[in-house]
Amino acid sequence: MRRHTLLAIPFPYPDIPNPMPPFPAAPPMEATAAELAGWWLEVGCSCGAGGRKLLPFRMLAAQRGWDTTLRSIVSRLRCNDCGARPKVLAVVESASGGPGRHNASDPKRLVIR
Ligand SMILES: [Zn+2]
Repeated sequence: MRRHTLLAIPFPYPDIPNPMPPFPAAPPMEATAAELAGWWLEVGCSCGAGGRKLLPFRMLAAQRGWDTTLRSIVSRLRCNDCGARPKVLAVVESASGGPGRHNASDPKRLVIR
């Protein structure tokens, strides 16, 4: 008869995605909105209207689908005021500008454009 112990738990653990993936080092253009869900997309237009806005990837994912890539998201962004494509694009770690994840002292910012 087989004994049921903690050793019966399959090891290694099931292949689940890392809920806190490392902040990307290069523009993650092929990453999906789901993979970027912990961060924000900073956008700014050369017309200056609205200043710079921080769009949570969770919101972009809800609007455009969790499988939508950053490249696809960026290609469809237009300014609400002048209709131009954003001049400033960056992936940022913290929307508040305060400490980033894991209480990092300065939140990371990765410029795309
Ligand atoms: Zn504009």
